This record gives sequence, structure tokens and C-alpha cells, in this order.
Amino acid sequence: MVWNKSIERVDETSQSNPRGDEPIDLLPPPTSDRSTAAAVARRRMGDERVKAEALQILGRFEVLPGLVVFDLDHTIWPLYCDCCSIGDSPRLFRHAKGIMCALKEKGIAMAVASRSSTPDIANAFLDKLELQPMFVTKEIFDSWTHKTEHFQRIQRTTGIPYESMLFFDDEHRNFATVSKMGVTSILVDWDGGVNLEMFKLGLNNFAAKFAASSTDKDEKTSLNGWN
Ligand SMILES: [Mg+2]
Repeated sequence: MVWNKSIERVDETSQSNPRGDEPIDLLPPPTSDRSTAAAVARRRMGDERVKAEALQILGRFEVLPGLVVFDLDHTIWPLYCDCCSIGDSPRLFRHAKGIMCALKEKGIAMAVASRSSTPDIANAFLDKLELQPMFVTKEIFDSWTHKTEHFQRIQRTTGIPYESMLFFDDEHRNFATVSKMGVTSILVDWDGGVNLEMFKLGLNNFAAKFAASSTDKDEKTSLNGWN
């Protein structure tokens, strides 16, 4: 299916080094680059820790979403693309990358639903952050529908029902509209974005909704049996 193709492509890329290791530099970096290299190493270590914790959280749930959809601005990164230049260097909220890596490892598809009016900048930032291969589909366009149209397109592309989707966004109007479509939606803090706490809440709400709908179906079946 569409989302598996994306995942397979990433795996092939990661196998370019036969041992699967990070490439090793034989010479130490110049002094001026050492602080940057140290910062990158620290960030990667942080991503790995978050990924491990996110995998532990995922392991606690028997029912998981088929697709996790992320808003971009103030959900995965602390900025508005509309207020940036294409040459800027974006950064992610602290837990975002680790959570996405855990979802990918678990084989759960991911998508983007953003109302940004500058998709060129959004895509450039996703490139710079090496996130493009994470997503099976991206809907990045301005709209007054509060993401109804974004989700209709995502549903058509992936074939995944709304009830199997989990969505993170920082705007209440998007959260409210998409929730009504049947998607389990989580409203994240504008200045904190998606983090492990929100991730756990999302999975919890998704599992609870699934359990409630199963009970509802059982009750209806039981009632029909009496009629
Ligand atoms: Mg947003």
C-alpha cells in the first residue's frame, strides 16, 4: 500500500552503510565546528531517549491508530512558516522527532495536515530536518474549512478510515472540526507542541474511543437479537 512504499524507501536509504552505523569521521572536526558537532550529538541522544520512551508507551496499548496525522506550525516546530524565509534553519519541539521515529519503527503510518499558505517553506523545512520520508502523504495548503478538506484528501489517498486516525494540532477550531469527522484529536499547547505526555494522552483517548465503539456495537447487536 502507499504508506509501506515510503517506509521501505527509508529503510533502503539507511542501508547505504553496510554495517548500518553512522558514518565515522577519522579526523576530529575543526575547533570552530566542535560545539556544533557536540550539539548535534546531544540532540541525537535526546531523540533516541524519547524514541525509546515512546516505544515503551506504544507497547502498553493493544489497540493502536492506523495513521497519525501532525499539524506543522506550533505542533511539531515552534514557528509559523508564513513568518519565515526559505533559508532559515528550523528546529523541532524537543520530543517531536523521537515520537515520529518510534511510530515509524512500530510501522504506524504518518501524515501532515497543515493550513500553511507557504507550502514551499514548509517542505523546505521538512527537507532540512530530514522528515520527508516519515510521511505517507502531506496536505499543506491554506483553507477556511479548518482541515475538513485536508482530512478528506488524506482519507482518499491512504484508504484509512477517520476512526483509525489520531491527530495532533495546536488550534482549537481544527481540533473541533476534525474531531466531528470521527478522528481522535488532541489539542497540544501552542508553546509546547507534541510531546510524550500528549502522545500518551492521544493513544489513551484512541483506545478508549475504540473500546466505547466496540461496546456500543455489542449492545446494538444484543438489542437487535431481541427484536
Ligand atoms: Mg498549528
